Amino acid sequence: LTKSEELLERRKNVVPNGVGLFNTTTVREAKGAIIIDEDGRELIDFAGGIGVVNAGHCPEPVVKAIQEQAAKYIHTSFNVVTYEPYLELCEKLVEILPHGERTKAMLVSTGAEAVENAIKIARQATKRQGVLCFTDAFHGRTLMAMTLTSKIDYKINSGPFAPEVYRLPFPNFYRYHGTLDMDAFVAKELEKLCESAKNLVDPNSLAAVILEPIQGEGGFNPVPQKYFEGLRKFCDTYGIMLIADEIQSGFGRVGNWSSWQNYNVTPDISTYAKSLGSGMPIAAILGRAEIMDAAGPSTIGGTYIGNPICCAAALATIQMMKDENLNQRGIEVGHIIEERFKKMQQNHPEIGDVRGMGAMMAMEFVKDKDPHQPDGELCGKIVKECAEEGLIIINAGTYKNIIRVLCPLVITDEQLHKGLDILENVINKS
Ligand code: PLP
Repeated sequence: LTKSEELLERRKNVVPNGVGLFNTTTVREAKGAIIIDEDGRELIDFAGGIGVVNAGHCPEPVVKAIQEQAAKYIHTSFNVVTYEPYLELCEKLVEILPHGERTKAMLVSTGAEAVENAIKIARQATKRQGVLCFTDAFHGRTLMAMTLTSKIDYKINSGPFAPEVYRLPFPNFYRYHGTLDMDAFVAKELEKLCESAKNLVDPNSLAAVILEPIQGEGGFNPVPQKYFEGLRKFCDTYGIMLIADEIQSGFGRVGNWSSWQNYNVTPDISTYAKSLGSGMPIAAILGRAEIMDAAGPSTIGGTYIGNPICCAAALATIQMMKDENLNQRGIEVGHIIEERFKKMQQNHPEIGDVRGMGAMMAMEFVKDKDPHQPDGELCGKIVKECAEEGLIIINAGTYKNIIRVLCPLVITDEQLHKGLDILENVINKS
């Protein structure tokens, strides 16, 4: 057995099957956009730890910040003792992600935890209970986050789910790509939003509407601009908190700190995790100060909220993103991928839609150019063969026929093209 095969055997013996696995790659070391597996094989990483390493694997300033903080203090709990890295990170976050005149921020450890707390804050601020979410949404695996998540496979036999959650169809224009007029589609969807929401639940009893402005696991579906604006108006009309979940799209991926900034639609509350900490478990909830302050004492928090080492990693990540202009790099990387994907699309009838925002680019595999005939089998084969050829790439969690790129933004043009060459060659052979 190779070392990689041995590890996979050991994994099978000791780790439950329910812990997901995208492919059979192992890791010994990782740097920038490259992973070296346990047998010394070099792979280009287009998965980026599922969108966590936008600033690359082991960026030097982040490694240094982690080491320095670890030597000072590792944990005191922010519930007990106040420390500066937490405050400095919140100050940086409200500066780059302002929600109206005064913004406040709080820290937790994971994306799901950020979502849970965002809903709790919205409920306390409105003194209402209902939450409206969307089809194809992914918000995490804890109770409320899992309930808000759309795909049944993620929650099968895990109920009962959280009550007072209602779901509307995500205005997925791209499912009907080329067959509909965008403005007419959005107008109809907006009409449906008001009508369907009223049929489901009295909007006056809704605490929050939560959406990913560009869906991640759902296959990189950007919400149409006018629909997002309509949603903002709908929330304003009924006094509902609009929550933007930017956990996958945040921190450079879409060429900005968040996708709502690209839309110029400001949510009341927003959530971040993944690339914020370059791999250290840290997540943030931001919102208008009066909303964030509505939560009662000790109703939000936890032992590990904003661990100091994680704060130091996040601060170094943000500084590095500024120094290296990684938001701009997100746009450039996105352009290269989009151009190459569109060329591949021209030569391959099995490639359906190509879409995304910034460097959050996806490609669908379909039968007969029909968006309603997904080809998950072909996509799975391509993902597997790419790994054999030296490229780690993943499909969308919700739709197995969609390939998505979440590569580190520090990837060089050469590495990016090399990865895209591997993908193209594999598709050519399939
Ligand atoms: N929200 C979105 C949009 C996500 O993409 C994810 C994870 O993929 C989550 C929430 C959950 O984050 P975590 O896995 O850190 O709990």
